[in-house]
Amino acid sequence: NQSVIFMYRLTVIPGDGIGPEVMEAALYILEVSEIDFSYETAHAGNECFKRTGSTIPDETISTSKKSDATLFGAVTTVPGQKSGIITLRKELDLYVNLRPVKSYEGTPFLFEGLDFVIVRENTEGLYSGVEKYTDDGAEAVRVVTRGACERICKFAFEYARKNMRKKVTAVHKANVLKKTDGIFKDTFYEVAHEYNDIRSEDFYVDATAMYLITKPQNFDVMVTTNLFGDILSDEGAGLVGGLGLIPSANIGDKNGLFEPVHGSAPDIAGKGIANPSAMILSMCMMLKYLGEVEESQKLEKALTKVLRDGKVVTPDLGGVASTMEMAEQVKTIFEGL
Ligand code: ATP
Ligand code: MG
Repeated sequence: NQSVIFMYRLTVIPGDGIGPEVMEAALYILEVSEIDFSYETAHAGNECFKRTGSTIPDETISTSKKSDATLFGAVTTVPGQKSGIITLRKELDLYVNLRPVKSYEGTPFLFEGLDFVIVRENTEGLYSGVEKYTDDGAEAVRVVTRGACERICKFAFEYARKNMRKKVTAVHKANVLKKTDGIFKDTFYEVAHEYNDIRSEDFYVDATAMYLITKPQNFDVMVTTNLFGDILSDEGAGLVGGLGLIPSANIGDKNGLFEPVHGSAPDIAGKGIANPSAMILSMCMMLKYLGEVEESQKLEKALTKVLRDGKVVTPDLGGVASTMEMAEQVKTIFEGL
C-alpha cells in the first residue's frame, strides 16, 4: 500500500486593508489540513504600488502562473491606477468567474436553502475594453466570439456534471442583441446537446433579474456573458446577505485564483474584526478545484457549524469575536472532523 504525498504549491497574495487579515485567518486554518501545501507570498495592490511603483509586479504574475492555485485577499485600487487583480486575471486568462449563491443558517440571507452558482464569462462582452468617443457621445463594443461562448458554456456543463447539478440556465437578451446574444444562445444549445444528462433552459436577463427575487430556488447553474453576470452576481450576493460571506473563483485552463468578493474595507482594516468567512469559502473553492473535494467539504462543514451556532462570529454577523477568534473556532472543528 503506497501512499503518495502530494504537495500543492500555492501563491498567496494578501493585498491591502483587511486582505492580509482574512488571509492570515484562512491560512491558519489550513495548517491542520490533511493536505500538504507550500506557499509563496506575492504582492499586489496599493501598498505594493507605494513600495515598488507597480500594483502587480511581474514577479507576482510569474509566481502565480507557476503555482497550482492562487489565493487572493483584497486590494485597494486607487482611481487612475491600473488594477492589479484585473491585470492578473488577464495574464492568466481566467475566463470564468464563478460565484456561488448559498444561504448559510445563522447569516442574514433573504431566502432559506439557496444553493446555486453563477458562471460568468470574464474576458469579453461589453467589458471588452473597446470604447471610443463619437461626435455626439461615445460607444462601447460588445464582443462575443463563438470560441469564448463555447468554452464558458462547456465549463458550466462540466461544472454541473462534476458537482451533481441538474440544470444549466443560459441568461441573455437575444431578442434585442440578436447577433451577439444570438451566438451566445445558439452556442449554449450546441454545447447542451453534448450533455444529455443535464437539463438546459434559457431566460432573458430582465426576467432573470425578477426570478432571482421571486423564485431563486429554481436556479442551479446559471451561465451568462460578462456584464449580465456582473450584475446578477451582485444580486445573488444580496440574496444571501453580507459581503463578508461571499467567495469567488476565477478559473482558466491552466490556473485558478480564489478570492473573497469583498474589497479591502478600509473602514474596518487594522481592527481585527473582518469576517473571515468569504476568504475561508474561497479556500474551499480552491480545494475543490485542486480535486480535494472531501477536504473542501470538511472545511465548509466546519464553517457552517460556526455560523449556525452564532457564538463565535464577527460583529457584522452580530457577534463580538475577532477575525482570529472565529478562525480558531473553525480550525478546531475542522481538525476534529
Ligand atoms: P474597496 O475599494 O477595496 O472595495 P470598499 O470601501 O468598497 O473597499 P468593501 O470591502 O467593498 O469596501 O466593503 C464594503 C462594506 O462592507 C464596508 O463597510 C466593509 O466594512 C464591509 N465589509 C466588507 N468585507 C467585510 C468583511 N470581510 N467583514 C466585515 N465587513 C466587511
Ligand atoms: Mg468595494
